[in-house]
Amino acid sequence: MGFKPISLEKYIKIHLKSNPSMKEKEVRKALKDALAFYKSGKRCNCGNDIWVIGGAFVGNKCFTCITGEGYPDNDYELKEAITKRLSTQGRRHIDDIPPNKIAGFFDDDGYEVTANDFEKPSLCVICANNNDPKQELLCNMTRFDQKDATEFICHAYKKL
Ligand SMILES: [Zn+2]
Repeated sequence: MGFKPISLEKYIKIHLKSNPSMKEKEVRKALKDALAFYKSGKRCNCGNDIWVIGGAFVGNKCFTCITGEGYPDNDYELKEAITKRLSTQGRRHIDDIPPNKIAGFFDDDGYEVTANDFEKPSLCVICANNNDPKQELLCNMTRFDQKDATEFICHAYKKL
């Protein structure tokens, strides 16, 4: 599951093979434009990062808005755009919160991160810190930092 990374050059070849009526120049330009859109930090209207390979040809939209599927299943995505940020949907921006109400933490774009935004690693379930409200913020930061990592490593783990 997930996206399958591919280089721009390789993908252009594949795209031309399945769309023989298109010219290499226009395929390259469409992909580069979509990649620039992604890199600039702009998103799909729904709050997700765009799917560069699909969005290049149907407007800058995310995988779900283009395909109607929840998750990619070995669909190609450019290597440079393989990392997708959390959707901004339903999340508060730091600028929209009164300064005296700001608590918790925020991602690099300034959107609030809550425990609902990532899965709890299985290590946490058997950790003494899991049920300690004083540890929650720290735990969530550790989880958030590693949400895309294949292995979860926590130096604060305490055996139950
Ligand atoms: Zn979308």
